[in-house]
Amino acid sequence: MKNIAILGASGSIGQQAIDVIERHPEHFNLVGLTVGRRVDDAVAIATRLNPKIVSVQYEEDVARFSHLDVKVVYGDEGLKEVATAAHNDLALNALVGSVGLSPTIAAIENGIDIALANKETLVVAGELVMAHAKKYGVNILPVDSEHAAIFQCLNGEDQRQIKKITITASGGSFRDLTRDQLEHVTVEDALNHPNWSMGQKITIDSATMMNKGFEVIEAKWLFDLEIEQIDTILHKESIIHSMVEFVDTSVMAQLGTPDMRMPIQYAFTYPNRIEHDAPALNLAEVAQLNFKKMDLERYKCLKYAYDALKIGGTMPVVLNAVNEVAVAKFLNNEIGFLDIERLIEEEMNAHEVIQQPTLEQILAVDHHYKTKEYEV
Ligand code: NDP
Ligand code: MG
Repeated sequence: MKNIAILGASGSIGQQAIDVIERHPEHFNLVGLTVGRRVDDAVAIATRLNPKIVSVQYEEDVARFSHLDVKVVYGDEGLKEVATAAHNDLALNALVGSVGLSPTIAAIENGIDIALANKETLVVAGELVMAHAKKYGVNILPVDSEHAAIFQCLNGEDQRQIKKITITASGGSFRDLTRDQLEHVTVEDALNHPNWSMGQKITIDSATMMNKGFEVIEAKWLFDLEIEQIDTILHKESIIHSMVEFVDTSVMAQLGTPDMRMPIQYAFTYPNRIEHDAPALNLAEVAQLNFKKMDLERYKCLKYAYDALKIGGTMPVVLNAVNEVAVAKFLNNEIGFLDIERLIEEEMNAHEVIQQPTLEQILAVDHHYKTKEYEV
């Protein structure tokens, strides 16, 4: 029986993780969960699964659990408390944004393995987080489908024999539009992802291709690769989740239907596998798999992510923080779709990089760019 805490239980990944746990009560026990504003979800989950601890974002929501036998905490400290709740073997970090960083660090320092969906943790502090995980002997198990794929392809392989990895990209909501056509797209269009149903922020990140840029950075730190070893390719069916090429030209790929419960479950059971009650991949029905070279001029956010990774230091922190602000503004109809990348480019150009930043410096730069007034 594995004890699991879920950070971000009301989100897209969080809800699918709860589903995995409820389908396998003989394998998994939910010890703690956090939500932000969707407190009704937390009350419902706590009623069904009887966790020891719940965290909500705001103090005024604590009273909503008074009829239940559960400890209730709140705010950023609450996230850390749930991440480190006693007796949990594993914390799933399914928060969105850099708010996920501090709880990840807290879990590591308490020797708790992490199933990581919150890619922003590795974008802003990948080097530091991986070094910390090594020091404390903690596993960081990827939940992102591409990284879960690479992780499976590397099972039992010698790291030194990897030639390169190729991360696949569906292309997002606007894959068939030209750059000119992108100028006037709406929030509603952007939220209409062709293959995956996900939270709003990552759906926009997929449309701008920033999500793929984040995944390049995430892969760099998870698998200890050189930038030149990380490639991306457009693959509109989202059936091949990613692949690894070895020095002898052999390529290993992991395939599956677009269903995030599979990588979530694998992170929960690793290195074992258990049944997943979902439709199997039917390649005869899929019939065709398509691939297309990635175009960094078309998808500027992907280029900015490679640039930020090359420059290093606090530049990826700026990339992420300005992106979080810009996506929120776009979702709020305050700026246009292409303003997202304009804002990021401007702020990256003006940023004075701190190399080898400490955690405090990372958090300070993140805070600065999250709270800054932007002129658009
Ligand atoms: P959602 O927006 O659906 O969920 C985010 C979760 O985080 C919610 O539970 C939300 O709470 C909580 N949350 C957000 N901000 C705060 C805060 N300040 N304090 C406390 N809780 C907070 O996101 P997704 O599930 O789509 O994505 C989660 C992470 O997984 C992201 O990093 C994403 O990139 C990654 N990922 C997601 C995939 C997917 O299929 N969705 C696929 C691969 C990676 P509430 O809603 O209650 O306010
Ligand atoms: Mg992904």
